[in-house]
Formats: sequence, structure tokens, C-alpha cells
Amino acid sequence: MYNLITKLSLSKQLRFEEGRILLFGKPTIILPAECFLSLTEDVGNYEALYEKGKILGKELYFAPHLNLVEDEKKALILLIQLFNVLGFGKLRIGEIKFDEKRAIFTLENSIFGISKSIGGCYYISGIIAGFMSEVFGEDTECIERECIKRGSPRCEFVVMTKTSKSKY
Ligand SMILES: [Zn+2]
Repeated sequence: MYNLITKLSLSKQLRFEEGRILLFGKPTIILPAECFLSLTEDVGNYEALYEKGKILGKELYFAPHLNLVEDEKKALILLIQLFNVLGFGKLRIGEIKFDEKRAIFTLENSIFGISKSIGGCYYISGIIAGFMSEVFGEDTECIERECIKRGSPRCEFVVMTKTSKSKY
């Protein structure tokens, strides 16, 4: 993970200027998780959180360095490293079937674990749905089937497209 930060800094894709942080040329902020969570708690609408997460997921996919990766598997590994740098939790691939456009992800230490009022990782489900829609080249849905907020040791997400869903 630190390797990725070093790489991003060296290639100037992550730049710290006075009063400005640029990640892939886009203004970026670092703020305490409680502040971010209080904003998401104020949204109060889980569907809206999911949709907002999807926007970030798509942004992550279009991060310039990913365009240099031809192989979809390597691109996905970079995406996950990038996700993990952001501090939402430790995301891992549980299973992926590129041909069937289905995937399972696990997440340890979800930041939403410390949220007082949000009962699941809707924003993170959205992020995964966003970047996997780009990886699979088709709109995907991401459902969190296990969550630390519901007593599971870690969170688990199932990703599928409308087409792959209809096969099962
Ligand atoms: Zn969760």
C-alpha cells in the first residue's frame, strides 16, 4: 500500500501543495472519519449513499494510471490498492468470474463500523458497484450480504450484472 503512495508521489499523480492536495490532478481532501461519517449520516437515505458511492467508484476506475493497464485483472488489483489507500477499510477479492461478470469482495475494518447510526456499508457497496460496472463494461449491482454492523467478523459484498443475475 505504501508502495502505491510512493509510486503516485514519484509520478506526481499525488501532489501536496500549500492548501491543496491533488490526486490524479483532482482536488482531494483528507478529513477525520467522524466528519465524513457525520455527513453521510445526515444524508439518511441509503439509496442516495449507494448512488454517491457509485460516482466515486467510477472516478477510481478512470484514474489515469489505470488506463495504462491493459489487462483487466491487473487493473482490478490497482483499483483495490487505490481503494485501500483511501482508508475505507481493507478490501480483498474473494472470488471473481470475468466471463460470468460476477464477483465477491471482503472488507475488513470498514470505516462504517464506527458510525453511530448507519446500519451497513451502503456507500462502499456503491463504490464497488461503480468500479465493477466499468471493469465488467456493464451496469452492476453490489449487495452487502454480511456486515460488521450486523455482527459478522467482516463485510462481504456480492457483485453481479443484470445479465449475470438472470442466469441464477
Ligand atoms: Zn459492512
